[in-house]
Amino acid sequence: MSTVDRIIADLNYLEAAWPNLVTLKLPGTARAWVERPRPHTITAPVEPDQLGLAGVPRPAPADVDVLDLLWQIATVADDLARTVCEVVDLGPDFLPDAPASVDPRPWLAVVIAWMPQAHRDDDRTAPWVAQQLRTPVAAAARLLGDIRDGQALNAICPWCAGRSTDGTTGCRTLQVHHPSARADDEDPDELIVCFGTNCGPPSSACGQRWHGHPAWPRREWDWLASQLTAPATESRTA
Ligand SMILES: [Zn+2]
Repeated sequence: MSTVDRIIADLNYLEAAWPNLVTLKLPGTARAWVERPRPHTITAPVEPDQLGLAGVPRPAPADVDVLDLLWQIATVADDLARTVCEVVDLGPDFLPDAPASVDPRPWLAVVIAWMPQAHRDDDRTAPWVAQQLRTPVAAAARLLGDIRDGQALNAICPWCAGRSTDGTTGCRTLQVHHPSARADDEDPDELIVCFGTNCGPPSSACGQRWHGHPAWPRREWDWLASQLTAPATESRTA
């Protein structure tokens, strides 16, 4: 996945996560669904009259983390949209009328639309944008309980004992992986992939490979979880 593709995936994620994050701020909203990792679950959109001035949800019950993150996403969306438009020489007419603090999604959409061209025009764009997105994307995933691409599992693979390239065992070699979801992709399911050296579970334990590595689709995660061993408690230095 190229940096630009990853950025667009992150921007789409923030766009989809926004209504959920706003919902977290509304009094009386059940939070039970947050506890389980359900990537990209979208709840009902928030009605405009549920929002306070400037679209910021009323702070009751106060949740500083969520308020801070909503503000951070709005600020980043505004900043990225203006910068990307400047790089591709588009005037401010291309920016949304309503401020990003009301709803950052149209601003994120501008970035999604112009990001590839902006990076072609100036190759410093993607690294900078990726850097700006890192904190809000990680914070949103944490608050929503989502699983993000590349996340390492806090467990040891029993088939390779978590073997790294230098032969050390006990490493966290299992990672969540989202294969690039294309329209013609028949199985865009997330995978857990073991990147351990020479990891070779028997076919009864793993029927799928991803680029030569053993891989388990989501429907097998409960079973996989029951097979894994806990990492050693002492910290391991590479
Ligand atoms: Zn393994």
